[in-house]
Amino acid sequence: MIQLYIPLGFLGVLYREIKQSLADMERLFTLLDQNREVADGAHAQPLAARGAEVKFSNVEFSYESNRQILFGVDFTIPAGTTTAVVGHSGSGKSTLSRLLFRFYDVNSGRITIDGQDLRDITQASLRASIGIVPQDTVLFNDTIEYNIAYGKPGATKDEIIAAARAAYIHDFIETLPDGYATMVGERGLKLSGGEKQRVAIARTVLKDPAILIFDEATSALDSKSEQAIQAQLKEIAKNRTTLVIAHRLSTISDAQQILVLEHGRIVERGTHTQLLVADGAYAQMWARQQAKQEEAANSPEAGELD
Ligand code: ADP
Ligand code: MG
Repeated sequence: MIQLYIPLGFLGVLYREIKQSLADMERLFTLLDQNREVADGAHAQPLAARGAEVKFSNVEFSYESNRQILFGVDFTIPAGTTTAVVGHSGSGKSTLSRLLFRFYDVNSGRITIDGQDLRDITQASLRASIGIVPQDTVLFNDTIEYNIAYGKPGATKDEIIAAARAAYIHDFIETLPDGYATMVGERGLKLSGGEKQRVAIARTVLKDPAILIFDEATSALDSKSEQAIQAQLKEIAKNRTTLVIAHRLSTISDAQQILVLEHGRIVERGTHTQLLVADGAYAQMWARQQAKQEEAANSPEAGELD
């Protein structure tokens, strides 16, 4: 009896928490996907973000005690600029974004926003300041309007439409039989990978965060949709502090800074041009992607790292 009872009780708690906290998509991810490993300290203060400079100082991290994932990771994203992270699958790219969102705390070193250690600021204020456009957007079984409005509780219809326009999905929504009231998600209209990502972008535009994290899609999109979405992402990244996890190097060649991650270590850093001149790991990846793209110009899989 007890064994049956405990899991059901836990589900009840989880369900209530989700119901109560629909203010934040990323919080839902936290509850569903991650252990609740971090908590607000007794003296946690709301984040006072100015330009939102993001700084990783000598960060070491492991999910499990016997396997270290990040080693001495040290970089700064100056306020309002874009830093891209590239590297093979498993090198630790997504881990950087999970740490910035404080799904986990670092083992040593620190992460700060405008000089404030993530461990000293409230999670609610941290998560309100960061917008994530994830690799795979999860939609609620609800209307498309609800799914966009989720970015900002209490948003007006005008704000929702403006965000949908900014994400270039408004015209598509208008063609649907029920317009903004169309049910989407598993039990409603199935949106394509590109459409779902546009919903995520609209949500983020509505949220209007100081910091953006993009985990670039890989195979979900064909090259043409991806190029269109990249252009939109660039637009909304303007003047925001942005961390891009990049799979196609061609999409991040104008980033102010590119970091190359290998087995949890930054092995190269610089602009696209500087890294090509350095003729190291990045230059090799670039050459390989260029060759692949030429080889298979029509294949959506061409030119990806993982
Ligand atoms: P990338 O985004 O570069 O592909 P990740 O940051 O997702 O890589 O993962 C880096 C390493 O951490 C991988 O070896 C992965 O298996 C491991 N890892 C990721 N998430 C977890 C987790 N929740 N628990 C244990 N190991 C994990
Ligand atoms: Mg990843």
